[in-house]
Amino acid sequence: MKQANEMIDSGSATAGGGSGWLASAVRAVRTKLAEWERLTRAVDPETRAAYARRWAELPERSRTPAQTIGRHAVGCEGTHGVFPRCNFSCQPCYHSAEANRVRTDGDHTVTEITRQMELFRERRGPHGHAQLIGGEVTLLDAEDHARAWEVMRSFGRNPMSMTHGDFDYDYLRRLCVHPDGRPRFGYVSFAGHFDTTMVGRSGARRPEREDELHGHRRAFCEMFSRLHAEHGVRSYLAHNMTVTPENADQIAEVVRATRDMGFKMLSFQPAAYVGNSVRWKGDFRSLDADAVWSRIEEGAGGRLPWDVLEVGDSRCNRTAWGFYVGDRWHSLLDADDPRDRAARDRFFRYFGGVHFNAPPKLLAARLARIIVAHPSTAVTAAGWLARAVRRVGPLELLRHRPRPMTFVMHRFMHAEDVAPAWELMRRGQTSSDPAIVEVQERLAACSYAMAHPETGELVPACVQHSLLDPEENRQLAQLLPLPTRRRPTPTPASG
Ligand code: SF4
Repeated sequence: MKQANEMIDSGSATAGGGSGWLASAVRAVRTKLAEWERLTRAVDPETRAAYARRWAELPERSRTPAQTIGRHAVGCEGTHGVFPRCNFSCQPCYHSAEANRVRTDGDHTVTEITRQMELFRERRGPHGHAQLIGGEVTLLDAEDHARAWEVMRSFGRNPMSMTHGDFDYDYLRRLCVHPDGRPRFGYVSFAGHFDTTMVGRSGARRPEREDELHGHRRAFCEMFSRLHAEHGVRSYLAHNMTVTPENADQIAEVVRATRDMGFKMLSFQPAAYVGNSVRWKGDFRSLDADAVWSRIEEGAGGRLPWDVLEVGDSRCNRTAWGFYVGDRWHSLLDADDPRDRAARDRFFRYFGGVHFNAPPKLLAARLARIIVAHPSTAVTAAGWLARAVRRVGPLELLRHRPRPMTFVMHRFMHAEDVAPAWELMRRGQTSSDPAIVEVQERLAACSYAMAHPETGELVPACVQHSLLDPEENRQLAQLLPLPTRRRPTPTPASG
């Protein structure tokens, strides 16, 4: 690039005394080349800076070779205080009791999302995955929901709407398609929450067993297949399930049943004592992380290695990336093969931070620049691919198309544990109590942040739901009160 500029400079100098048009043509070419060079850089400098900050924030125990935060991710983002109300009454519910006293208001949603996304853009760089979450997102008018997505995208965020899934195809079509039938979005992401802790679903108001909900799970996925068939809108669907002592023994059954429905992620959240205390039922402290994960493995039909790629603190998150071929799940990386672990390390080193959702031509140019500069990366990738094909079996791959599937377990913490840990962190102190130290480490490595533009802070979602939601919702209830019901006017007595 430097050479190219020098050549242009010398051409420009030669032409300087002569024709002005040649000089401006040279300037235009130089500007274009500089733009192209910047655009095709493997990693945006702001992303690099955000990664460096995140890595520096991580506690020592989370700086493992498997850690993605600070190497290939900044962590997830989520909205708060933008539409707190929900029309279900799940047991448990992470939202504070005050949330349902706040009116859902599209203009408020869009305004607040804009402010929160501005802060994420500033602190987390030009790209991110942001959950559009609050109470129930589909209580927003479809047009307001679409506006919210547009705002999030304008800040480089890839929005995922979190829903109970109890809405119809007409809503989805109005959300994703213009009135004249043109798609408004080419690609959309949703996480559908389905489990027996939920109360209020049409046709399954108070389900007792998880299998009563399979029809609803399938119907949810089918709406998106139809959207694709009729309007060409593609989707990424995740399935969320809150795990309690009552439904833990049905996890394997849920995994097996949902595997082929169209979800690309199955995510499990062991319940915590956070949010509306009236809705807490059962001994949530008895939920053991290993026991829950082994139920997920039972459903997947094999081991789900979560320590080959980590997201923040492994006591908060376990993630296994992979794919199904036929009815067998395979991990993207073989956790027992040192060559796959070495390939992961090289991926982080050379490709960490590459924006893989960039337009295909741009992505190809960026990848090409990396490979040209480091040709051995192509050999590493080929080796990994050959091993993966051998592991899965070439014949199996000919028979079945691989279907991506990620398994996740995300363990929110109990509010009474978060409060003292956060208080000490605010004062810059570390607890002497090992149990509180664990909470502090998890909060410091948090991979799920919420933005507070009024203070310039990004806070862990655990802190948001444990400590900040109640007051925030009390204030919102003043700002956006529910409409008051008019008393019927008494009819004057006739005669
Ligand atoms: S929100 Fe809480 S449980 Fe989730 S990653 Fe952050 S600290 Fe851990």
